[in-house]
Amino acid sequence: MFFEKRIDTRSKDALADFLASHNRYNTMNSWNGNSSYANCVKVNRLGINGTSLEKAFEILASDYWDEIRFPIREFEKSWYGGYTIGSNGRSGGYLVLYEAEVYSPGHRSTCTRCGQLNFQQAVEGSVCGVCRAPRVNLKSPLKWVRAKSSSIDHRMSKEDYLDMSHAWLKDRAELVRSFDAACDQVRNAFIELINDFMVVEETVMVPQKVKRLERI
Ligand SMILES: [Zn+2]
Repeated sequence: MFFEKRIDTRSKDALADFLASHNRYNTMNSWNGNSSYANCVKVNRLGINGTSLEKAFEILASDYWDEIRFPIREFEKSWYGGYTIGSNGRSGGYLVLYEAEVYSPGHRSTCTRCGQLNFQQAVEGSVCGVCRAPRVNLKSPLKWVRAKSSSIDHRMSKEDYLDMSHAWLKDRAELVRSFDAACDQVRNAFIELINDFMVVEETVMVPQKVKRLERI
């Protein structure tokens, strides 16, 4: 547990203290004044040092986010799409808790080989625009989750929290703790990357240099 903290949920004071003193960050730009619960995930603040830290900076220069973002999907699922976690700040230095909503992106069909999505219904002989494999209709509309830029508990002081009911405080603390736990899992996944992968430079056909991660 790096971000997650234990709280005595029987105490209103402990709950208010936890919520009022939690790290916060803007949900959009700093000028619109919206903020929410957040954790700083700058590499030099993650408790990593020495050669691991050097390697961490190498990994940051590669396409690594898809490898470590799976705890966020799990978090969204556990809150039925009502909340999500996004990164914000210069070079994504903060993970921020966002209110979210479930929406249907409108795709009607998908490729049987590469999974490319398409807005058109598939008919006899429809093929994928990317790989030319057959396209089939989706069984049900996709449900994706998107973040809203609204604040969560913006500018609430400890006194403001203490004015809320004990039940409200417990619910809120449960949400924020589960956010912290998901941030811990993202951090763990990042540390695993440092240990299990090396950064390789490869020249692809385009020709353009890309860095990708390869399991050691
Ligand atoms: Zn395809």
